[in-house]
Amino acid sequence: MNEIIDLHTHSTASDGTYTPAELIRYAKAKGLRALALTDHDCIDGLDEAVSVGREVGVEVIPGVELSAEFPNGTMHILGFFVDRTRAAFLQRLATLQEARRQRNPLIVKKLQDLGLEITYDEVVAASGGGQVGRPHFARVLMQKGYVRTIGEVFERYLKKGGPAYVEKARFSPEESIALIHEAGGVSVLAHPFTLHLPAEELDPLFERLAKAGLEGVETYYSVHTAEETLRYERLAREWELVTSGGSDFHGANKPNIDLGIGTGSLHVPYSVLEELRRKPH
Ligand code: AMP
Ligand code: FE
Ligand code: FE
Ligand code: ZN
Repeated sequence: MNEIIDLHTHSTASDGTYTPAELIRYAKAKGLRALALTDHDCIDGLDEAVSVGREVGVEVIPGVELSAEFPNGTMHILGFFVDRTRAAFLQRLATLQEARRQRNPLIVKKLQDLGLEITYDEVVAASGGGQVGRPHFARVLMQKGYVRTIGEVFERYLKKGGPAYVEKARFSPEESIALIHEAGGVSVLAHPFTLHLPAEELDPLFERLAKAGLEGVETYYSVHTAEETLRYERLAREWELVTSGGSDFHGANKPNIDLGIGTGSLHVPYSVLEELRRKPH
């Protein structure tokens, strides 16, 4: 019996390159038993994913990935089992989407000021009509030959603090967790290595998040080192968090990461999903 699942994936509703239907069919082809669709600040792909999941026999967990305020690195918080009909939740997501719409043209302006030829229409075209994110700017610049890879665009221009980086309004970590709870969901800190925190500062942060009601930490992740995995396993035990896991599959926008298996060795067992489901929500 196949037990593999993937609790972190993106579709064309945000910055993945597979439509929700394509993603679920691909999950089926890869033999995944369950998958969470966790688009950035957006739930537009969930209806399609859930319905195709029923059709082909893949358990689809409605999810979301919120970008939270965090001074140095990047903090993303995943929400699983979110109820996509709750008005307060939808309204807060609309706020985050508006913040992106305000940010995106400013990124184009910065890139133009740096001497790169790029228009907002090209970026929108690259997004295929879903929500625009930084990988779409990166694709346009890569296709024009300015760089060889999407990663290089982030390194040179788009990363936090980079010359074309523009801040966008976000909710605090506590507000993000509360928002997921309001939506009836379970919250999980995504890829903690992107926090860029020294090991000794992780414990106070986990204490803060656990107090805010965090239920899990994404321990098994495509690019975590063995040492990082061990560190997050220990923190999970200390703060009674579920050790979640996922690939962060984005299709061609993260070409080295495949669904379910990440860079090759990821393996998230079905029992993780059962543990998350047991958390009150
Ligand atoms: P945004 O949500 O628009 O700020 O864009 C953030 C997204 O950019 C992340 O979710 C990743 O998909 C992508 N991203 C961030 N850093 C990198 C990187 N170094 N290489 C490739 N993609 C990245
Ligand atoms: Fe992304
Ligand atoms: Fe993320
Ligand atoms: Zn993600």
